[in-house]
Amino acid sequence: MAMVAILNYPNPRLHKKGEIVTDVSAPDVQAMIDDMFYTLEHTNNCAGLAATQMDFANPKAITVLNDYSEDGSQPRCLINPVIIEQEGEQFEDEGCMSVYPRHIYEPVKRAARIKVRALDRHGNTIEYSAEGYVAKLIQHEIDHLNGMVYIQRLSSLKRGRVDEKIRKIIKKS
Ligand code: ZN
Repeated sequence: MAMVAILNYPNPRLHKKGEIVTDVSAPDVQAMIDDMFYTLEHTNNCAGLAATQMDFANPKAITVLNDYSEDGSQPRCLINPVIIEQEGEQFEDEGCMSVYPRHIYEPVKRAARIKVRALDRHGNTIEYSAEGYVAKLIQHEIDHLNGMVYIQRLSSLKRGRVDEKIRKIIKKS
């Protein structure tokens, strides 16, 4: 297992879609999942990671998450995840490991409740209903797998301010 670098906005690779996994048992798929968990566990304040925001040559449609359930029932690895139901609305702050997380966080409109369908790392189909924070997290990670970072969901006015802030951060670093 290895630590994998997390890509920083505006790296164009963040806008590449994750490759659909056709064989979950393939060694490269299992190794990718191991490296993703290792990186998640060794990155401060990291709630979840999508393969497409990491320095993989061929990132696949995989996301790993911390478990926020009280009973350990929440899946921690979603492969080829798709939202199959959604309802309600939330508007909560988001940050992203790829978008200067110590400096930038903005509220984004998301569904309040979702049901996601995915494969687990053993190839089983799972369906999971989430609400609130975990629903937001899963929607954020699925955006990544579709080549989208959360600041693309901001109004153009807000987006302009965030881009300006990012330019200043990059200049200083
Ligand atoms: Zn993110």
